[in-house]
Amino acid sequence: MSQTQTISKKWTCDRCGVTVSRIDGEAAQAPDSWESSAAGQFCLVCRREQAAEAALDSTPSDSPVAERAKRRRTALIEFEVSRTPEHADGVIARACRTSVSAVTKARRNLNLPDPPPPSQASRAKQREVASR
Ligand SMILES: [Zn+2]
Repeated sequence: MSQTQTISKKWTCDRCGVTVSRIDGEAAQAPDSWESSAAGQFCLVCRREQAAEAALDSTPSDSPVAERAKRRRTALIEFEVSRTPEHADGVIARACRTSVSAVTKARRNLNLPDPPPPSQASRAKQREVASR
């Protein structure tokens, strides 16, 4: 990773104001799921929202509600697949509360490779991620 790692005792999302800190109060890097950019720091929830909003921005405003909802859902799934392409489709589907086939379709749309077959270690990791 070439990005400069900043450490802080407390991380605050610039969009929703949620804060995270370590239980022991030690300074730490921002959570893996957070994004630090020129625009600020954003938690995973807000990153998902931003992905969904970006999709809606590109949807004509006179689109039917169902079409807008579909685009929003697709954007969320594509965001998650892009963020964690190494996760199994089933794990991503649970995170997005969608079907496995929808995740597989998004993966194909984005030309992302299939996830590696789950090993014992990565299954444990996926459980940990999914429970976050
Ligand atoms: Zn946030």
